[in-house]
Amino acid sequence: WSINSLRLAMDARAQDDSIRLVGSEIAALRTANEVVNADYNQWDVAFARISAQDLVWIGENYSFAVTLETSFDRLAVFDGPYAAPMTWGSGAGYMPDGEHVGKAAIEAARNWLRRNAAEDRSTVLSFNAIENGLPVIYSASFIIPHTNALAMPERIDDLPISMMGRTLSQDRLGHISDVLSVSDLEFTTGDVGSRPHWTLEGIDGSHLGHLVWTPPRPGTDLVKALMPLLTMVILGCMGLAGVIIFLTRRMAVKLVNQEAQAATLARTDTLTGLPNRLAFNEFLVDQEKSGRHALAVLFIDIDDFKRINDEAGHAGGDDVVLALAQRLSTLRQDDLFLARIGGDEFVAVYSATGDLNDKAGALAETIAAQMQTPFAVGTVRFEVSVSQGLAVRNDLTVDRVELVRRANAAMYQAKRDGRGHWRSYDGRMARAAQEDRKIEAALRRDIEAKTGFAVYYQPLVSAKTERVVRAEALVRWTPVDLGP
Ligand code: GH3
Ligand code: MG
Repeated sequence: WSINSLRLAMDARAQDDSIRLVGSEIAALRTANEVVNADYNQWDVAFARISAQDLVWIGENYSFAVTLETSFDRLAVFDGPYAAPMTWGSGAGYMPDGEHVGKAAIEAARNWLRRNAAEDRSTVLSFNAIENGLPVIYSASFIIPHTNALAMPERIDDLPISMMGRTLSQDRLGHISDVLSVSDLEFTTGDVGSRPHWTLEGIDGSHLGHLVWTPPRPGTDLVKALMPLLTMVILGCMGLAGVIIFLTRRMAVKLVNQEAQAATLARTDTLTGLPNRLAFNEFLVDQEKSGRHALAVLFIDIDDFKRINDEAGHAGGDDVVLALAQRLSTLRQDDLFLARIGGDEFVAVYSATGDLNDKAGALAETIAAQMQTPFAVGTVRFEVSVSQGLAVRNDLTVDRVELVRRANAAMYQAKRDGRGHWRSYDGRMARAAQEDRKIEAALRRDIEAKTGFAVYYQPLVSAKTERVVRAEALVRWTPVDLGP
């Protein structure tokens, strides 16, 4: 995750930086030591006094610094005129027998200087050693005159040496920690594990031990500081997303409901609440899709409905339609579909198994019987009859459009036969309907062309007076193509 890799990169960088800083701090301490050492040791007065074993002078000028701990906290003066090393330590004063500076360190410095500083006697040695378990940074050099006023002894053994040490006490390490912004800086001779460390080497290059510390972890600190904020932002985003999802879903559910409502409304007749023509057509399509091919379609049309409208008004006509719908609805059963498909037109569809002709015929009879009871509109009672047409199919040899057309044709046959009846479709009806349409078309044509009509007058004679009292006029139409 990118935040985590950023955190690790920042932490690793800070760790590398801390190693560099600790290293340069140690190097700075060494350099400071060397400068102080050279400053003290290359001095005519010091050479003269120390060669003369002027202990008072040494006390005032050299060991004084140890007591103050300004530049170093351990001091050894040895060789030259001194049979045994003199040592001073911070807080402990002068010790003649090498208590404050270990014999091993003195030995090492002496050997190194005699070997490496014989040519250039001003050479300053810098090295690390362990004293009483603590690391010490030492600088050592011969004490020599710095001008030509005093003669330089021939033999190197005649030169005294002074060696100054700066102890990396826990106090000093704590101070360095503060300056470098690391924590727990300490010296250890043990295993450092994966902690950052700086190795201190002795004069012979051996490992004396390590400075170890806990580096700053700016990446981790940053993430820690940002975490509450990040968490809040993430939770906020999640909350917002939740609200959006909730609102979207609620809107979607509402839309779906509205859609469903609209779909239902589009398929419902508002006056009667029955399915309308669209629903009727879809019902027929569904039947075909689900393989229920056997259907009986019964068309029901109110006779002389215009007259009811004329006498009871449009609202009165609506009352009759509604009342009829209610009567038809009492016949409802599982495999019977009822719809109002026009002003005064209803349809009943049977999808039952068994003899559809019988069942639908019985239904038509029942409906006709229902018409025996007059319909009340306000205070007026209307005798109402319906004409019904039945068409049945048992398989797909008749498609739904043809089935509906046949039921309609049968209904018109019932009208032609005097209304109030029900008729079952048969093939002759198709021909009769075709014939009717042909006659209608020829009649329109001849009226328009004003041909084929002849007027005959028939006198009406009074039997009493034997005189012509009136005349009836009748129009005879002889279409050229259809015959009389
Ligand atoms: P027929 O016996 O041949 O069926 O004659 P009809 O008078 O019933 O006439 P038809 O069925 O051809 O026409 C139905 C009439 O019903 C036509 C229209 O004026 C009327 N109508 C159509 N829709 C409505 C409606 O919603 N309410 C009312 N009250 N009348 C309607
Ligand atoms: Mg009608």
